[in-house]
Amino acid sequence: MMPRRKWMLLLGGSLSAGWGHRAAGKSTAAEQAVRPGMPSPKIREVKVIATAPAGLRLAVVKIVTDQPGLYGYGCATFTQRADLVVAAVERYLRPFLIGKPADRIDDTWQACYNSSYWRNGPVLNNALSGVDMALWDIKGRMAGMPVYQLLGGKCREAADCYTHISGKDIPEVIDNARRAMEQGFRHIRVQVGVPGMAAYGSGRGTEVAERLHSSPVFEPAAYLRRALKLLEACRTQLGEEIELLHDVHERITPTQGLQFAKDVEKFRLFFLEDLFSPEDIDYFRIVRHQCATPLAMGELFNSPHEWRPLMAERLIDYIRLHVSQAGGVTPCRKIAALGELFGVRTAWHGPGDVSPIGHAANVALDLACYNFGIQEYSPFSERTQEVFRNCPVQKNGYLYANELPGWGIEVNEAAAAKYPFGFGESGDRKENNGGWGEIRRRDGTIIKQ
Ligand SMILES: [Mg+2]
Repeated sequence: MMPRRKWMLLLGGSLSAGWGHRAAGKSTAAEQAVRPGMPSPKIREVKVIATAPAGLRLAVVKIVTDQPGLYGYGCATFTQRADLVVAAVERYLRPFLIGKPADRIDDTWQACYNSSYWRNGPVLNNALSGVDMALWDIKGRMAGMPVYQLLGGKCREAADCYTHISGKDIPEVIDNARRAMEQGFRHIRVQVGVPGMAAYGSGRGTEVAERLHSSPVFEPAAYLRRALKLLEACRTQLGEEIELLHDVHERITPTQGLQFAKDVEKFRLFFLEDLFSPEDIDYFRIVRHQCATPLAMGELFNSPHEWRPLMAERLIDYIRLHVSQAGGVTPCRKIAALGELFGVRTAWHGPGDVSPIGHAANVALDLACYNFGIQEYSPFSERTQEVFRNCPVQKNGYLYANELPGWGIEVNEAAAAKYPFGFGESGDRKENNGGWGEIRRRDGTIIKQ
């Protein structure tokens, strides 16, 4: 038997011969296939690009590193309280982050999350999301890969998406739906106006309801009667193939919600959204036991802990989170993974009050998460595309990721400055600094929006 010392000498000799070989520049194919890592970048600057090219206040965080040309963008969009998000980033997270490594995403997320002690509010979560997504962008740019690759790569080629269809009356909704179907959409969210009322997701008519105040009016019972007729007309007139979605927007009482979910069961919806407010989620248990209407929830949730009972008891079907509201990609990919364990699928919030950076993050999660369900889509205006180059592309009802490193989006800051917060605003929004006004029942009672 060879003495141990002799083995060590032989091993040492072959190792040093190997290193010498490499040092001479004759590297193996395996060595050549591995890109050398960049040194750890440090955060040098953090700022917010505040812009409203389409009239909605978009907040985008830009993190610049100490390495030349290496920076990233993240979505921090909370349109109704946008100024506060800007302050949270620039007055609190900026001094906390400068000098820290830019390549420790989860660690940085946890550090920022805990640094305010009181946490989990929409302003702080959106600010944190801006930082989180910017760090994912930086890591993608360092790796030379789109972010969906860093999350594991594609589970599908593109994200099937739904578009918003509305009208002042049912025939107008049907006409608009047919146009979207001709463009290739297989999924449509349908909303209809209620005469004299401020219905959600549709224009307000010229009629005025009798009321004891001067605010816009909404009566839950009138809306429910109209919505039921709309869904029946859509299913009858648009055929069996089209997938129908509808957003209640938490505007009705729990028992009205239960009745409505049962009434629409026969129209075989893709999902019914926000049937209850976050305060009333215990009612999902009752609905689940009484009908098979698929349920989407969570656009207003902040904390991942709000999901636990709904997922663990399999009470909902789709996660509707606004990714920046939850704190960015880092918490949302964990929530998606939790959903996968319980058969709950993703349907990230994607209206116009998400910046193109946020839409790119949605698509990255859509492609990389096995339990993807559907993606909400809103078109990018010409002005938005002037500010954000290389937005995700929608074709034939599918949303495609940018194949460039990171989010693949570049922000034209000179163009962004042409459309400051408040651009294009009028009425309530202008008066409320981008915030929403109020909606009341006929007697004056405030309702949830
Ligand atoms: Mg919604």
